Amino acid sequence: MSFASDTDGDPFECERCGTCCRKGGPGLHDVDIRLVTEKVVGPESLYTIRRGELIRDNINGGLVYTDTEIVKVRSEKDSSTCIFFDSSDNACRIYENRPAQCRAMKCRDIADITDMHVKNRMSRADLFGNAGWFMDMIDAHETRCAYRDAHVLIDRRKEGDHSAARELSEMIAYDQAVRDIIREKKAVEEGMLDLAFGLPLALVLEYRFGIRPGKSRAGI
Ligand code: SF4
Repeated sequence: MSFASDTDGDPFECERCGTCCRKGGPGLHDVDIRLVTEKVVGPESLYTIRRGELIRDNINGGLVYTDTEIVKVRSEKDSSTCIFFDSSDNACRIYENRPAQCRAMKCRDIADITDMHVKNRMSRADLFGNAGWFMDMIDAHETRCAYRDAHVLIDRRKEGDHSAARELSEMIAYDQAVRDIIREKKAVEEGMLDLAFGLPLALVLEYRFGIRPGKSRAGI
């Protein structure tokens, strides 16, 4: 994810191929908070992967359920390329201020990135912690729409449990309602909703599990 042409004595020489930047934006860590407060990285450039969400593990490969939340730089639409990557120039637009994970990334030696990528991750509390009622809404949403619970409901639904399908449908509706309320109140910018509440639950469940609203009397 980084173009380490300034290697600071490090023998690794980045060839600026851009491969790692095309595999997705970095997850942020607590040391990256400055990038947000100094508006190098705007909140609309970020989204949250919530705890328990099924994600691709770019370090070890395969799909895993994340056991922490991850505040992550968005990718370009319909692409996995980091939004800060300039394809025409094969360069990072915020190179001087690139996040810690990008600094640690060396494609031929993943020791540094393996060591740091799950530690001291930035959380929504780091960003919204002083917002009071807004953080309360985030916590309430997390309680009502936990992926841990969604996965249990998905398994029960597969076994033909109609009440699980209904509960899952209610969970999706709650997730949508929270976003609608925040929009209506104009509490935060539209672009910050995915940072505050993660990607819409309906979108994630359709992408990961092929679950679409309106498929049954239970609503999914
Ligand atoms: S922030 Fe810059 S270095 Fe990091 S993945 Fe994006 S383009 Fe690459």
